[in-house]
Amino acid sequence: MEYEAVIGLETHVQLKTKSKMWCGCANEFGADPNSNVCPVCLGLPGVLPVANEEALRLTALTGLLLNCTIARYAKFDRKNYFYPDAPKNYQITQYDKPSTLGGFVDFEFTGAGSVNGAARVRITRAHLEEDVGKNFHFDRTSGVDFNRAGVPLLEIVSEPDLTSADMAYEYLNALKDILVYGGISDCDMEKGMVRCDVNVSVRPVGTKELGAKIEIKNMNSFSGARRALEYEIPRQIEVLRKGGKLIQSTRRWDDVTQMTEEMRTKEHAHDYRYFPEPDLMPFVPSDAWIGEVRARMVELPLARKHRFIRDYQLPATDAQTFVWDVPLGAYFEKAVTGAKNPKAVANWVINNLRAKITEAGTALDTVKIKPTDIQVLAGLVDGGKISSSIAQSVFADMFATGDAPAVIVEKRGLAQVSDTGALEKFCDDVIAANPGSAADFKAGKVAALNFLKGQVMKNSKGKANPTLIGEMLEKKLRA
Ligand code: ADP
Ligand code: MG
Ligand code: ZN
Repeated sequence: MEYEAVIGLETHVQLKTKSKMWCGCANEFGADPNSNVCPVCLGLPGVLPVANEEALRLTALTGLLLNCTIARYAKFDRKNYFYPDAPKNYQITQYDKPSTLGGFVDFEFTGAGSVNGAARVRITRAHLEEDVGKNFHFDRTSGVDFNRAGVPLLEIVSEPDLTSADMAYEYLNALKDILVYGGISDCDMEKGMVRCDVNVSVRPVGTKELGAKIEIKNMNSFSGARRALEYEIPRQIEVLRKGGKLIQSTRRWDDVTQMTEEMRTKEHAHDYRYFPEPDLMPFVPSDAWIGEVRARMVELPLARKHRFIRDYQLPATDAQTFVWDVPLGAYFEKAVTGAKNPKAVANWVINNLRAKITEAGTALDTVKIKPTDIQVLAGLVDGGKISSSIAQSVFADMFATGDAPAVIVEKRGLAQVSDTGALEKFCDDVIAANPGSAADFKAGKVAALNFLKGQVMKNSKGKANPTLIGEMLEKKLRA
């Protein structure tokens, strides 16, 4: 029997706010342990939480970016459990009335289950909760750093629409791109800003009923999630093939052994005893409030990519570069406006400007070249005014001085020689100085022409128009 995988992901993302969710402590990574804490986020008796409005806005904005409905009535609940990293012994989350519901994410994917190079996963909900502290284990003791406790955390739950490890991986990357784009989160994996729980079951191909859900908790990298699925899916299929039975359970991914191991089964599932958070009002956003959030909507990465391909006839790889590097894409859009040859402008921006920035270790916003000058430079090459090798040197000057290309060409006398009289002389001299190559060409060695062409370029210091001299040399040699 053939089996197929069914995967749903619960992704936790730290929101990009200045302060924590219920107090004024800084939401900051890397501070000394327990330096960003106060009675509220330490859960001391008698304190009251005050909701961070920016976190509520970012949650609603995420909902819009993920095509969700924004709830007109949302509330907070307590999820009770005892663990050292949870200072209050409960986590404030949204249980039955989350802030956003029912959306979808479209992402590029070419494997099984894709349609025209894309796939769609439905989003069940995105709700707001708070992060917990972080446990550290030393030789003989353990410690908890509560700096992260109370940091606003968004949980984005997908429907079980994913069918392979690769598909799950591409979805996670697309989701991350969207959240970074929207300014929702920096999604810095190294800083633990994104974690996900991977839910996976298998079922006979063609059946509809879902198999027993196995949850792999707390993956902190997308490649880890993919590896866990690459291990877990065949494991489950093998259990069924051997006549075994799968039961709903939670497993842990071990990065050292590259295997999952069982943590607990359903019988030992937590009862979190959810109840409405008595210290927080339900959240009932007004039209005006939602309108303000809507005004912060940005173009989605995939839409941006398609627009760059369509409007500037760029190949997908160039468009993708401008999707990943938003400021570079913005610079390109300024440079390309009205250009006859958008691809040439893109080449200068990607191959030259970006390379120079990296080489010089500077940032795009300190670049002296005016975007429109890139278009002018590309036009000088296209119009035969300067050769492309000369253009490289003009570009280097532009990068160093910020001068306009025409000024540099003029100042350094770099304009391409297209004057036939001057070119004739260069060609005649080269043929006279290289009788051997001339004879070779006449004897049928076509490559000899390139050598002669190269000599003319050298003698003219790169200023001869290469197309013209090619034609001219050939004519003279065939005469
Ligand atoms: P729970 O109540 O245990 O958290 P949910 O129904 O909320 O379970 O689902 C949690 C996640 O697991 C969602 O992303 C959902 O799509 C996914 N999921 C649910 N059932 C299955 C299943 N049988 N196989 C794979 N994923 C599933
Ligand atoms: Mg769940
Ligand atoms: Zn605090």
